[in-house]
Amino acid sequence: MKKNKPCPECKTIMELKKTTLHFEREGFYADVENVSAFICPKCGTRSIPGRLAASIGKTIENLFKSANEAEESVEKELSPSFSGISFHRVHP
Ligand SMILES: [Zn+2]
Repeated sequence: MKKNKPCPECKTIMELKKTTLHFEREGFYADVENVSAFICPKCGTRSIPGRLAASIGKTIENLFKSANEAEESVEKELSPSFSGISFHRVHP
């Protein structure tokens, strides 16, 4: 997907790079690393391709939901059940 996508802010041609997305919800946060995104070299505006953005959004949504359910299912005195999940692709 090598397209010359202009920045919506300053019209500079954006570069396809890897970035980290940060999500925060109900006391949990999640970082999604090495996300392919168009990044403006001039003003730093980021644009995630639609299909990828939807896929990440759904994954994060499920992750927060699972975390909350795990929290609720544990006895009060043991809460919180866990404070975070780290999920990575292992590079060979
Ligand atoms: Zn820009």
